[in-house]
Parts: sequence; structure tokens; C-alpha cells
Amino acid sequence: MPFTIHGLPVSQGIAIGHVHLVSHAMLEVSHYHVAVRYLPEEVERLNEAVATVQGELVGLKAAATAGQSHSEVGAFVDLQMMMLGDPMLVDAARELITARRCNAEWALVQQMELVVEQFDQIEDPYLRERKADVVQVVERLVKVLLGHPGHLPPKRRDGLGTIIVAHDLSPADTIGFRDHNIGGFVTDVGGPTSHTAIVARSLRIPAVVGLHHIRQLVEEDELLIIDGTRGVVIVNPDERIVEEYRLRRSELELERSKLNRLKDTRATTLDGEDVNLLANIEGPKDLAQVRAVNADGVGLYRTEFLFIGRDSLPDEDEQYEAYRTVLKSLPDKPVTIRTFDVGADKALNGVTARFEPNPALGLRAIRYSLAEPQMFLTQLRALLRASVHGQLKIMIPMLAHAHEIDQTLRLIEKAKAELDVERIKYNPRLEVGGMIEVPAAALALGMFIRRLSFLSIGTNDLIQYTLAIDRSDEAVVHLYDPLHPAVLKLIGGTIQAGARFGLPVSVCGEMAGDPAYTLLLLGMGLRNFSMHPGNILEIKQQVLRADLGELAPRVQRILKMDEQSKVREAVLRLAG
Ligand code: PEP
Ligand code: MG
Repeated sequence: MPFTIHGLPVSQGIAIGHVHLVSHAMLEVSHYHVAVRYLPEEVERLNEAVATVQGELVGLKAAATAGQSHSEVGAFVDLQMMMLGDPMLVDAARELITARRCNAEWALVQQMELVVEQFDQIEDPYLRERKADVVQVVERLVKVLLGHPGHLPPKRRDGLGTIIVAHDLSPADTIGFRDHNIGGFVTDVGGPTSHTAIVARSLRIPAVVGLHHIRQLVEEDELLIIDGTRGVVIVNPDERIVEEYRLRRSELELERSKLNRLKDTRATTLDGEDVNLLANIEGPKDLAQVRAVNADGVGLYRTEFLFIGRDSLPDEDEQYEAYRTVLKSLPDKPVTIRTFDVGADKALNGVTARFEPNPALGLRAIRYSLAEPQMFLTQLRALLRASVHGQLKIMIPMLAHAHEIDQTLRLIEKAKAELDVERIKYNPRLEVGGMIEVPAAALALGMFIRRLSFLSIGTNDLIQYTLAIDRSDEAVVHLYDPLHPAVLKLIGGTIQAGARFGLPVSVCGEMAGDPAYTLLLLGMGLRNFSMHPGNILEIKQQVLRADLGELAPRVQRILKMDEQSKVREAVLRLAG
């Protein structure tokens, strides 16, 4: 019998395919008793996993000592090696297998919980945080035991894709889907502005998240339809429903191809104002899409995607090649490359040596870069070297303090001095800008305006931090509201301050690519929108219909409102 489940639509389109269940290593460890005659085999399974993880750690350590890696890597690898050899962990788990006939994963997790409890009682905060290493090492072991990371099934021959069904997926997991025939994915948790959702949109794979218990409701290989536009998942559809969705998919494709007619039209409002529509990219693989819609340049290159989902960090040359490829392919257009924004939901593989109780408020973005000056310097050198190949601008994420800019500018000077000594060319007039993503920054703009050449508003984080809502937590996703008066005041204030001081301002968060907000942002004075290239033509359509002379005073009135419902109604009326 077919049945339907509703969730949060995060990546448009329709996917029809067969379920592949992906287990989350720690959450879905199954608990079972092993028959006595298989106990030696179970212990051997654990021994083999320990040997594999030891091999992984040795590899990580080698990469770190080769100098191309994070300075903390060596230290954390040593620590994890030590934990692996600790009798309290693996030896005790072996005993649990033989004495209580627990399966290896279950034995490990039980032992881990015991050890973590002991760590919790330690007074010294540094040592207490080492429990994160225990958890990580057990996670590594469990992943090996489960055959993780997500061994994806081979391409199907019936023309249907594979639909991934998971409790949760990291952005790094999702990037991996590119190389497999993954039609779409659905998850129990997640929110529309999480980085996993952003990656899904960038890969153009339909996705629905926040489905709560989907993993328990479907079976491996079952037929599934994802309607990523309406947030609907249909399990076990009959032939009639499949036909209906095939039809709807063709209609959507037709609508998109109609928009293609706008590709070479300049984005100009009815009263003749030019608007720049730029693309957000994650790497050179997105260039084809950028060219397909004839974007005015790149407004946000999220370089952290070069860093995550791998065990060793990209060295200077690998980074230089990626940046150069993007710059050379858009020679006459601005390309804004953001320095890596790792941390929070974009953790580096195994490099998180600290336990963070609140990662979104922790060592993330510029804070992380400044805590790892060597890794940061490598990126800055690669960027400077690439700057001779096009119109590069450097952008710093998540600024809150003036000293973060000052330190970054000093590091850029250091990188320039090194390149001078090595007689390597770079653009000496390279512009450096910053992201306004923290309310503190939007409320104290002077110190940013004085030091930077441009600003870009990251609405995803600005909303997250203004409303205190974790952008990847579906439990609070209903409170994530771009139209909250406080959010609009911060965005409007930043755009106005930029205009007053002659500093270009763009919006590069998801709001810029959502047609529901185009007229509002235009009326606030925004002239630079950066978004996923797939949204550019739809936003262009909105721009072409806009009359700024009429919009601006209406939007000024909206910015004075302090009732969400009134704001919502007024924004809807802008289109009418
Ligand atoms: C933002 O926060 O709006 C933004 C563009 O950055 P990211 O989504 O990568 O955090
Ligand atoms: Mg951000």
C-alpha cells in the first residue's frame, strides 16, 4: 500500500527511485547476542576493525608530519592511538563479546559510554574534553564494522536512481553522492538552510528532511518518490502515482527551459536600475551551471568544500589549481572566494580534537582559521598566487571583532611578503571583504566598513544567530524566519550603511535566491544578489518586473513594522 509522509522541502525537483538505507554509525548500532560458536569470529571482526583504524590513523599522522596538515592532527592522532590501545576500551569490549555474547558494535558502544562517564567526572576541563576523542575513536571503529562510510550501491540498470534514506547526513556525505547515481535523499533530521541542504541544491538532487522516523518506515529497495518542491515523500507508489509524478517532473523541466530565454537578458528593473546576479559555488564542478545561466560572476565560493570529507588537507598547489580554474573560466567577471568556513556542521574529518558543547557557537569560520594560522596562511598564499588569473576578491566569514580583520590582513601581508621573496606574482590591489553573519557585526558596522572593501550578508547565519535557532535542527526550524522584524532591521541597516559609505553590499545567504524576498531586498536597496546558479533566472524574472521607485517607500514602511504577521502580509502585497 502506498503512503505519504510530509517533511521539509529543501531541494526542489522530483526523484523516483529505490531506497538505500544508510545507517548512522553511532545511532543505529544494532544490539544482538552472538551464538556461542561464532564468538571467536566476532572477536576477530573487532580485531580487524582495530587494525584498519590503526592503519587510518598512521596514514593521518604521516600526512600531518609531511607538513601539509593541521598542526593539531599529530597530537590528536597520538591520543586516538593511545585510546585504541587502552585496555578500558577495546580489551573490555572483547570481554563483553565473550562473556555476554554482545555483538562487537554493541560491546564497543557500551564500553564507550562507561569511559565517557568516567571522563565526565574529571575536574580538569582539558582532560574532561578528551572524551570527544574516545567517542571519535569508537565512531571510527563502528564505521569500519558497519562497512561505513555509506558503501553506496552500484548504479541500477532499470533507469531509476537510488534514494538515500538516512537519519542524518553530513555535507561531506552528501558531496560523495555526486559520483554515484543518487536520485535524491530523505532524512529524519535537518533544516532548509543546513549545509547538507545547500549541497543538495548545488548537486540538484531533490531532498526532503525533518521526516522524523522515515528510516523505520521504509525498507531497503522499496520504491520511493521524493517531491522536493512540496516536501512530500511517497512510499511504495503504484504505477498510476509513478506516472503522475513522471508527468509533473516533465512539467517542471519545461518551466525551467522557458526561463532559459532570460539567460542573456540583463537584470534591469523597470525603472532602469542594473542588478548583479552572482553565483554561489562550492568548487570548479559548479562552473558549468554558472556559465549556463550567464551569472555576473561568483559572489561566494565556499572553499571549505575542498577541505571536508577527506583525511588529509589540500596543500597550497591543490588549492591554487582549484582557485585558478574558477578564475580563468570567468576572466571578465568578479570571483569572490571565501576563506574556509569549517567547524559547526562542516567538521574536518577527524581533525576536531576538541569536544565542543555548542559547535555553531564554537571554533568556526574565521575563528578556526586564526586558530590555525599555518593552515590559513597556506590558503592565503594559494589565493594570492591565483589572483593574477582573474578578478579575485577575498572574503572573510563570520566576523564579529575588528581584531579578526586586523589579524587576517596581517596574515595576508605576511603571505605577500613570502611571495615577494620567492618572486611569485600576485595582484597587490586585491580587495578583501567580510561577511556580516553575526548580529554584533550588523550592529557595529563602522569597524568593518573602515577596514574592508565590501560586505556580504550571510542571511543563513545572521538569522540563526539573531533568533538563536540552530539552522540544522528541524525541531526549531519553524522559528527560522527571514521576515522577523529584528532580522530585517539588521539586513536593511547593513545595506543602508553600505550605500552611505560607498561600500558594495551583497546578500549571499539563501534569502537572495528565494523569489519570495527579491522585491523586499530590492526595495531595501540591494543591488548584488548571490545565490545558487539554479535560482538566478527565476530571480532575474522578479528583477525585470520590479519598479524600484514604487518599491522603496513601501519597503521603508515594512522596516518600521514590529509585528511578524503584518510584515508577512506587506511583503506578500509587494508582489501584487
Ligand atoms: C550564510 O550564512 O548565509 C552563508 C552564505 O554562509 P554559509 O551558508 O556557508 O554558512
Ligand atoms: Mg554562513
